[in-house]
Amino acid sequence: MTSKATELLAKGAAELGVPLTELQLHKFRTLANELQKWNNKINLTAVTADEQIVVKHFLDSLTLRQVIGETGRLLDLGSGGGFPALPLKIVLAELEVVSVDAVAKKIMFQRHMGRLLALQGFTAIHERGERLVQDYSGHFDWVVSRAFADLASFVRLALPLLKEDGRIIAMKGSRGAEEAVAAEPGLLAMGIRVLQAKEFKLPLSGDARCLVVLGKQGMLGE
Ligand code: SAH
Repeated sequence: MTSKATELLAKGAAELGVPLTELQLHKFRTLANELQKWNNKINLTAVTADEQIVVKHFLDSLTLRQVIGETGRLLDLGSGGGFPALPLKIVLAELEVVSVDAVAKKIMFQRHMGRLLALQGFTAIHERGERLVQDYSGHFDWVVSRAFADLASFVRLALPLLKEDGRIIAMKGSRGAEEAVAAEPGLLAMGIRVLQAKEFKLPLSGDARCLVVLGKQGMLGE
């Protein structure tokens, strides 16, 4: 990763309220290099240029920091090459992160990165989200996803895995708030409320993003 891309990462992350240490920057550089190396052999992501990786994978993943805490248990459903799971784990050492994808080679890459970056409390699982309930029923404070499914399908998978006061967070683009409004009746029927549809622009690129935050209906008073 070029020094210009590293500078952009440091600047963008600071803008998101996640200032990065030298060690964290080093870990992000290693992640970018390995992603590019592996991507030559197996197709992990369509995003391959340094600055694109910084903005579309790293900074986009870090936007979640606005709506999650520093500790607790987080599940990333359909994490692909490890986004948002890996960037979040790099900046939040205390967060317990479980990352799941149905494609074995993607999970192999994530495990490789977990070892290489010495990430403690990071587990990558090769499984379909549907099958997690056996081991992780009611387990997570946050279930998150990016580019995974429509809201209702995501919620159907996430709900049994969520703690009573947990949150489901879908990372969406410019039409996220619209999708949340349209999905709301179906979500309410599942006992889920839209708590927030937080719209903002990504640092550097200015691309529109929306974090849709959902919670169980019993959790009133927020
Ligand atoms: N979150 C990543 C990848 C998005 S692509 C990113 O934003 O870069 C969607 C991913 O979800 C794919 O890697 C696919 O293998 C995975 N996926 C789709 N359905 C799944 C399911 N039911 N369980 C687990 N993973 C699934």
